[in-house]
Amino acid sequence: MEISIGGAKLILMRGDITEQDVEAIVNAANPSLMGGGGVDGAIHRKGGPKILEECKRIRATEWPDGLPTGKAVITSGGNLKARYVIHTVGPIWRGGSRGEPELLREAYLSSLRLAASRGIRTIAFPSISTGAYGYPIREASRVALKAIKDFLETEGGLDEVRLVLFTEGDLKVYEEAAKEILGQ
Ligand code: ADP
Repeated sequence: MEISIGGAKLILMRGDITEQDVEAIVNAANPSLMGGGGVDGAIHRKGGPKILEECKRIRATEWPDGLPTGKAVITSGGNLKARYVIHTVGPIWRGGSRGEPELLREAYLSSLRLAASRGIRTIAFPSISTGAYGYPIREASRVALKAIKDFLETEGGLDEVRLVLFTEGDLKVYEEAAKEILGQ
């Protein structure tokens, strides 16, 4: 599915985030920035040690106690097709009344702002927080799409935003949410 918003393209697709030929891919990282399972593990495996080295440097300088939820940092993409990896931390789902929607929105917006501030014009996101962090995907898809829509309509600077869903089922959920939120 492809949707035009504020002069940019939003693409919803099934795929593997590590294979995307965009300028930056987003990592659903954890505060340690030291790698993990899911998307995080896949990115570090395919991207190689350079990404982890840069993450260690960021921990040693900018974020000694770890990257707070909702914030984003950037490293090179190592051996990936993407030139950069933007690492952000989504919220762990704790029932929905502990600020989860706002923090998930912040994770998307921080990543988009960081990309735009570096002159990056194409970016791909995974479904942040809906794996190990347990955020229900229906709710998460609405937050993700609304955040991206608001950014593209008001701040701009990007040409293409991809949401890369790992399964056909996840893609369907995001497409349903797009019908509601974006009127597609
Ligand atoms: P979180 O800890 O933020 O929940 P996870 O990596 O556990 O992050 O999961 C986030 C989503 O990414 C899940 O929907 C999972 O199925 C999906 N995912 C896992 N590997 C990949 C990949 N290589 N490309 C795209 N999405 C992936």
